[in-house]
Amino acid sequence: MGNCSKCKEKAIFLNPNFCKKHFIDYFENKVKKTIKDYGLFSKKDKIAVACSGGKDSTTILFILKKSGFNVEALAINEGIDSYRNHTLVDLKKFCKENKVKLKVVSFKEEFENTLDEMLKQRKNPCTVCGIFRRNLMNRYSKDYDKIVTGHNLDDEAQAVMMNLFTANVDLLDKSNPKSKKIKGFTQRIKPLYFCSEKEVAAYALLKGFEVGFTECPYVHKAFRHDVRSALNNFEEEHKGTKLNILKKHLKNISKIKTSSESIAYCSECGEPSRGKICKACKLLSEIQSFK
Ligand SMILES: [Zn+2]
Ligand SMILES: [Zn+2]
Repeated sequence: MGNCSKCKEKAIFLNPNFCKKHFIDYFENKVKKTIKDYGLFSKKDKIAVACSGGKDSTTILFILKKSGFNVEALAINEGIDSYRNHTLVDLKKFCKENKVKLKVVSFKEEFENTLDEMLKQRKNPCTVCGIFRRNLMNRYSKDYDKIVTGHNLDDEAQAVMMNLFTANVDLLDKSNPKSKKIKGFTQRIKPLYFCSEKEVAAYALLKGFEVGFTECPYVHKAFRHDVRSALNNFEEEHKGTKLNILKKHLKNISKIKTSSESIAYCSECGEPSRGKICKACKLLSEIQSFK
């Protein structure tokens, strides 16, 4: 390994080459620059950070708290045996140490079943989990001005490509450092939008966060997994691929006229919805009728 590009210390991170101190500065500055450049939020905002106990959300929670933002943690327990229980233990400890208020909401209490129980019907785990997670995040963030998620550059580049591969135009504008303002929908913010997975992992490691690097046991079933390995291969051979995907994407969506006229409100629960009944209510009735 070479030396740091800013001092004579040994580089512990490559491309860009930085020692521990300069990598931490570089990473935190990148996050702060994203918050500033995209006007993500201010010190006046009350912010909920959607936390999983994993490296991404723990990292952004830490940086925002340290920078003096008004943050609280919101976690969802989906009920994934031998996975979420462990990550939540880490999160509880982290929040206690860093004096962050934490609220945990569970699938079991809200929807009568854990994710594991719901999947007995052979539904796609990531679809079921995503719909219910989004529903709970939105419902429990109503007292906040913004909700921050730990999505990083890799997650977002994958999302853009997945939408391209599946011709899903509807979701294309979801990959954005901040979501559109829609009534009844807490604005979603992604301050790690330009930080790669590798960078976030290095930061979490250098800071000594006790986060599990174990993946969700359902991940191998996901289409995302294939897109992820394809993009990693590309990045290996062609540096900057992932960032270029997002740059091009952001240019494209800035030209799209925003249309919020397709937003309705669910007749069952009142949450924002594409149709008469929201996806969460529809899925819940399917699961209940199956029992
Ligand atoms: Zn240095
Ligand atoms: Zn509903």
